[in-house]
Amino acid sequence: MPRKQESLSPSKAYIDTTILTDALLKKNPQGDKARSALKAFDATILPVYAIKEFKSGPLDYFIYLHNKLLSTKSLSQTLRALGTLLSYQKNRPRTAIDAIADLMASGPPRKMTDEEQADLFRGALARLILAAWSKRRKVTTAVSDELSCYSETDPKIEIRTGRFSNPGKICKLYGPNECCLASSLKSRLGDMPKLIDAMKGQTGREHTRRREVLHKLANTPKKPMSAFDCARLGDAYFALYAPSDSKILTTNLRDHIPLATALGKTAIGPDSARPRSESGESARQP
Ligand SMILES: [Zn+2]
Repeated sequence: MPRKQESLSPSKAYIDTTILTDALLKKNPQGDKARSALKAFDATILPVYAIKEFKSGPLDYFIYLHNKLLSTKSLSQTLRALGTLLSYQKNRPRTAIDAIADLMASGPPRKMTDEEQADLFRGALARLILAAWSKRRKVTTAVSDELSCYSETDPKIEIRTGRFSNPGKICKLYGPNECCLASSLKSRLGDMPKLIDAMKGQTGREHTRRREVLHKLANTPKKPMSAFDCARLGDAYFALYAPSDSKILTTNLRDHIPLATALGKTAIGPDSARPRSESGESARQP
């Protein structure tokens, strides 16, 4: 079948943390969707900020789950612990429960004890965590926007205990040093009110913290920008740093679209980014 010619200009995607996470950690249809969306662009650019968010968020939740299975030696106790977490945290238990559901979907049908099941899943998680981390710079055509204040420290298994540790989740700052993004952000203070405006009506801790750091940059730029300020930028980072000829590729359109639009940029979801070989009129073979 001849391929349908799309656009003559090369397509470029700026990859956010949700797509990186799905591509690296999800062995399910959601992961397939992210991986095929990445193939739909001529260029896929991954900012190191997304690696930082991936490591301090989803990868850390997988590590938490691994260590919980290790310490309880029980799948049922692990699930109960996640249930307790749900009353005061959302993302960590939700990610962990999804991970268990995926493991159960691919698990063997034979009968196992609670402890055997915990051990089987823990082993699978350990392999998944290490593979995801080692592939983080290989799923896109380029990695960009290196962060001089952040080092990508490897998560590792402690030989004696079998526990995973995940050091270096935030920027490394010493004494009066600011986050390495501070000077570039402070040179474009006019963008901050646009982003704050775009977030009107959004509630929740993540949005409140993002608004706080944008206000701090806009109103008191002489105050140093901390490692926590950097982490709290979150989705705003992608709107600020995506190249103007790129599209922000994300599964979280609800949060990204207003921020991107405020700065004249575009955010699209994996459904709008079909591989070019599938975009022709011919249906695929069953
Ligand atoms: Zn930083």
